[in-house]
Amino acid sequence: MAYKIFQMEPFVGEEELVYLEEVIKNKWVTEGPFSERFLERVKSFTGAKYATLANNGTLALFISLLALGIGEGDEVIIPNFSFIASATSVVFTGAKPVFVDVKGTNGLINTDLLEKYVTPKTKAIMPVHIYGQGADMEKICDFAYKHGLKIIEDAAQGYGVFYKGNHVGTIGDVGIISFFADKTITTGEGAVILTNDVEIYDKLRYLRNQGRMNSGSFTHPFLGMNFRMTDLQCAIGLAQTEKFKKIEGIKLKNYNQYRKLLGELPTISFLEEEKYGNIVPFRVNILIDKALDLINHLESFSIQTRGFFYPLHKQPCFKYLNCNDSDYYNSNSLNEKGICLPVHCGLNEEDITFICNKIAAFMK
Ligand SMILES: *Cc1c(COP(=O)(O)O)cnc(C)c1O
Repeated sequence: MAYKIFQMEPFVGEEELVYLEEVIKNKWVTEGPFSERFLERVKSFTGAKYATLANNGTLALFISLLALGIGEGDEVIIPNFSFIASATSVVFTGAKPVFVDVKGTNGLINTDLLEKYVTPKTKAIMPVHIYGQGADMEKICDFAYKHGLKIIEDAAQGYGVFYKGNHVGTIGDVGIISFFADKTITTGEGAVILTNDVEIYDKLRYLRNQGRMNSGSFTHPFLGMNFRMTDLQCAIGLAQTEKFKKIEGIKLKNYNQYRKLLGELPTISFLEEEKYGNIVPFRVNILIDKALDLINHLESFSIQTRGFFYPLHKQPCFKYLNCNDSDYYNSNSLNEKGICLPVHCGLNEEDITFICNKIAAFMK
């Protein structure tokens, strides 16, 4: 179907073309000068001591877990309300994901429930910074310290999100940010892994580059695979980092327009904003009673939206984990009531007014 308004749209244009042209003229298309510049920029922006690239957020989570030594027989605590990759990255290391319910107000991991899920096999916790804001890292760090757990942050959606002054993804042992097409900044596919720990960084470098430190050498001290990106992608990424402030500004403006136009409607609520950090809207997330009907209503006006995540404990592929549905009230409820409205940089004021008018008409 051809939509009038798409649920997402990458903010790419002239700036990316200029750098891409340079890559083509250089003829250096694998990781090279642009990858270095891109990484430097991400490091100085996030404050991470070390950063390395991965081909996407899913595989970035996977090798980060490997670098932390997670594998067969281990358990990793993760929020029940996230994209499937948070959980599958754990499963593919041989470990078991253990799902914790989230806060009904905003989908962030409910730190009050964590103790209940600790067993002698628990080795790590993976907070997910969902829908544009950070999980409560102070509580998560205290919990992890108490039980001797590693922390791997899924900050796939979190570029530009700070928790008490620290960029998400730099607070735990290791963190990842995705650059998939619908994330805050994009390289098409791609990701960065952040850490302040030189040992983890070295492990990641071996793992991502065929078990050796430098390409061109054919002795491989360790086992590794190919998790690299390309300079074509990093040229786009560099331009995107330079446009981030603009992207953030437009998204916040769009988000605030929605809040103003829909905020008066008593039957709609927005996800609650935590006080400890900023938000960089990923989508505009609202909760209403007849979410599915509203999604269909907006479809009929060529407005594309998305539902919320389907709880991980209910995923057909995780049936074997035999989770107890009654432990996950909030993830179930968010999934039933949630709608993601478009907030991307291709929208103008009239578009958002149009969407809000259609929503208001439906609510009556
Ligand atoms: C997008 C996303 C991922 C996976 O990133 P890809 O780059 O698409 O592989 C993981 N976790 C969350 C929360 C995401 O939104």
